[in-house]
Amino acid sequence: MSDPDTTLAEVEMPVKSVAIRDAAAPFDDTARADIILRSSDGVDFRVYKNILSLASPVFGTMFSLPQPAEPYDGGDEVRHGLPVLPLTEDAHTLNIVLRWCYPVAVPRLTSLSVIRCVFQAAHKYAMDDLCDSVELDLLGAMDADPLGVFAVATSFGLETSAAQAATRTLQLPLAALHSPELHRISSGQYYALLAYRLTCGVAARDVALSKSWFNLDLYSDIVTLGGDMDLCKRCCVEDGQTDWYAPRFVWSYLRHAGTLLLHHPYGEAVKSAEVAPSRRERRCEQCRVNRFRDFHLFMEHFAREVDSAVAQVSVPRFY
Ligand SMILES: [Zn+2]
Repeated sequence: MSDPDTTLAEVEMPVKSVAIRDAAAPFDDTARADIILRSSDGVDFRVYKNILSLASPVFGTMFSLPQPAEPYDGGDEVRHGLPVLPLTEDAHTLNIVLRWCYPVAVPRLTSLSVIRCVFQAAHKYAMDDLCDSVELDLLGAMDADPLGVFAVATSFGLETSAAQAATRTLQLPLAALHSPELHRISSGQYYALLAYRLTCGVAARDVALSKSWFNLDLYSDIVTLGGDMDLCKRCCVEDGQTDWYAPRFVWSYLRHAGTLLLHHPYGEAVKSAEVAPSRRERRCEQCRVNRFRDFHLFMEHFAREVDSAVAQVSVPRFY
């Protein structure tokens, strides 16, 4: 993760003609700061070389070099007697990176674009502890944007986080998968994610096609084997392939759920209103069985079996 070969030329930013402003505390120490770091958007951070050197080996190497007689290449000034070092990071990113070096509070990062910028800077300046901290913030953004977390994690080669995010995307149907961060990954990486989802979808769909998980002890009003047939002759039928009997709405439900699972391989999906039969569909005038409770147990069991099958699918590497 560290990149000790990062050179001064790579961390500097050619000066643009932007209005220069001063950063707020704690980067406003005009008395003791010994260098100014200038952000790409023109904010001057007065900092201490010793502190930055302890936090970043890249800064350490940079500051240990003989000080140039003239201002740094790419810079064009000495301000208030301090050399000005222009950097590629914007002020928001630099503020977070520098706060990490100082004994001050560092805000928790929630925006994926900020997380990406800070991670990029932390990687460039070989600040491994900051990389670890930002990766935790990245995982914290999972609920809000799992595809975005996947994109950021993949683009930085964070294998474990990318795998977690890929699995987390299964909780969303394919049509709901979008993120402003998606363009950060290659089409090949996105294809690998879709291929993983499809493998999970087939595994989940196969649960809907199988009857091997049916449990007579849990919901005897919903399914039974032909030999023990004591269900209503009006609403219960064979599935056409095995000896299992169930009300017609159960077979219909499993067919619809199987189709849904191909694109949304997630246990909770089989309990959604999109596929779950209504009370009216479950009612039979002849047997008058209240199947609400047993069908609820059937769906819960089905959902657990789907999640169990999907969990068996190995998550690929995405880069
Ligand atoms: Zn009936």
